[in-house]
Amino acid sequence: MKTIIANWKMNVGSRESVALARGVLLALKGKKQLPDVVVCPPHVALGEVRKIVARSHAALGAQNVFWEETGAFTGETSTRMLAELGVSHVILGHSERRRLFGETDEAVGKKIVAALSAGLVPIVCVGESSTDNAREFVATQLRGALKGLHLRHKERILVAYEPVWAIGTGVAAQPADAVSMHAFIRSLVADLLPGVKASQVSILYGGSVDGANAYAFLREDEVDGLLVGGASVKLSEFGKILEAAVSVLEARAA
Ligand code: PEP
Repeated sequence: MKTIIANWKMNVGSRESVALARGVLLALKGKKQLPDVVVCPPHVALGEVRKIVARSHAALGAQNVFWEETGAFTGETSTRMLAELGVSHVILGHSERRRLFGETDEAVGKKIVAALSAGLVPIVCVGESSTDNAREFVATQLRGALKGLHLRHKERILVAYEPVWAIGTGVAAQPADAVSMHAFIRSLVADLLPGVKASQVSILYGGSVDGANAYAFLREDEVDGLLVGGASVKLSEFGKILEAAVSVLEARAA
C-alpha cells in the first residue's frame, strides 16, 4: 500500500480547506487502485473538512497535538479532542515544530504515546539538516522519540523521513538516497520496537515532492508513501501526485 499525506500547514483557512478536500475527493473518483490518503488541515478547519471526507476514502489528520488529556494548557489540543473530531492521524515532530517551537525528541515521544492511546496513528517526522550526519542524526531522533514504546497488536506508526534541507526548498532528495535511508530507518525501528510487525510500520518520504518527482519515489518498495507540504495546497500538482500513486498501485495489481 502507498500512503499520501497532505500537510496544508497554516496555509489555508476553513473555506479553502473545504475546497481542497473536495478537490482531493474528485481526483480520487473512479480510480480502481487507491492509495491511502490523509488530509491534514489546520486545527480550525478540522470540523468542516470532516464533513467533506466522512464516508470517503480519505482520512483526516491533524498537524500537531499535546500529550496531556485535559487541563490548564491554554492554546493546546488533546488527542481525545482530535479523536472526537474524527481525526485518525496526527503529524508529530515536524521540523517546523522542532525549529520554531522547540519541540524535543522527548516531547515527540510523549505525543506518540498519547496519540496511540487515543487510537490515533502518529506520523513521526525525522530528518537531518545539511550539516548533520544524516544517519546519526535520524537515529538519535528516533531513539529519543521511540524510547520505551511498545506497540500493541493493532497499533501502527508512520515515520516520515523529511530531510530538513529538502522541505519547501524545491530540492528533493535523490530517490536512491531516500531508499537507503528508509531501509536504515526500518531496521532501526525494528530494533527499537521489539516484536513489531512490518505491517505496523510505514516509512514515508517528504521534502519538495511534486507532480514531476512523485512517481520516482513511489515506485520504490522502500517508500511506503509521501508526506507533501507545498504541493498539497495546489490541487493540480497534488492531483498528479495521486495519479503517480494510482499508477504504481495499478502496475502492481496487473
Ligand atoms: C513538509 O512540510 O512536511 C513538506 C514535506 O513540505 P514540502 O513538500 O513543501 O517540502
